[in-house]
Amino acid sequence: SMASPALLMRVVASAYSVAEKAATIVRNVMATGDLGIVEKTGANDLQTKADRLVQMSICASLARKFPKVTIIGEEELPTDEVTEELIEDGHCEEILKKTCPAQYTGIKEEELVIWVDPLDGTKEYTEGLLDHVTVLIGIAYGGKAIAGVINQPYYNYEAGTDAVLGRTIWGVLGIGAFGFQLTEAPAGKHIIITTRSHSSTLVNDCISALNPDSIIRVGGAGNKIIQLIEGKASAYVFASPGCKKWDTCAPEAILHAVGGKITDIHGNSFQYNKEVKHMNSAGVLATLRNYDYYASRIPNTVKQSLVP
Ligand code: AMP
Ligand code: MG
Ligand code: MG
Repeated sequence: SMASPALLMRVVASAYSVAEKAATIVRNVMATGDLGIVEKTGANDLQTKADRLVQMSICASLARKFPKVTIIGEEELPTDEVTEELIEDGHCEEILKKTCPAQYTGIKEEELVIWVDPLDGTKEYTEGLLDHVTVLIGIAYGGKAIAGVINQPYYNYEAGTDAVLGRTIWGVLGIGAFGFQLTEAPAGKHIIITTRSHSSTLVNDCISALNPDSIIRVGGAGNKIIQLIEGKASAYVFASPGCKKWDTCAPEAILHAVGGKITDIHGNSFQYNKEVKHMNSAGVLATLRNYDYYASRIPNTVKQSLVP
């Protein structure tokens, strides 16, 4: 008989279904009209009922199937019993059919760390900029982001009622990334994508130094990486602390799976072992192509302001 699929593939296949359930919760909470907004550190750092329910759903669902995996979620929540209706038990068959890369076939549960951002782009969610929102499930091994799932619950929401609402993008290093059309950004143009709600003088000074042809200001780390791999932008530049490991883990795995690169503003790669500090203190620089062009133009004054 066939050998059972490798643990990594089973985790990704489950994360896919768990992320689809999460997207349903995100849409349902919005449909009730009662977001239950709580300020965390301030008015630009929010949590809604969707962030809370989705975190409980993702973490409890994955913990039930993979009890020895370390799962780190963004939201600090009371450790109440999670209601059964939040549990997702399914998996994506198509992912199980893919061959696990040889270097990952021996991975054990206790060696995996899953970074969960239940709702990335919360500020934009509360303002009705719905396609900025993503659900992020990143999977790390040996301190590296090796697999990820990004669900965009409101993909196509302005495309009319015929269009299918929402999509799930997934990727594994050595296999590739799926659920979208890989597209090159316009050649010879520097289209910078950055934060919409967490700007600063430093953020803007850094962008100016890169000779931008245009600047796209949108919410969400997941959303910005999607725009890179779909050719809407040439570089994601955020010269500020604020982004955390759960914001970058899933996007990093998917971007790297298609040949892109993400680092902090100094060019240091991110680490995702369970002991690592959550804050990406030295910002974010990500591209699908031409990473070196952007990295070489980050001003030293900007670098000196951002201590890793
Ligand atoms: P943005 O591009 O502003 O949507 O940020 C990407 C991710 O980093 C989101 O999850 C934000 O909540 C988070 N983030 C960035 N800057 C900050 C900040 N100053 N305070 C809290 N969260 C931040
Ligand atoms: Mg986030
Ligand atoms: Mg979040």
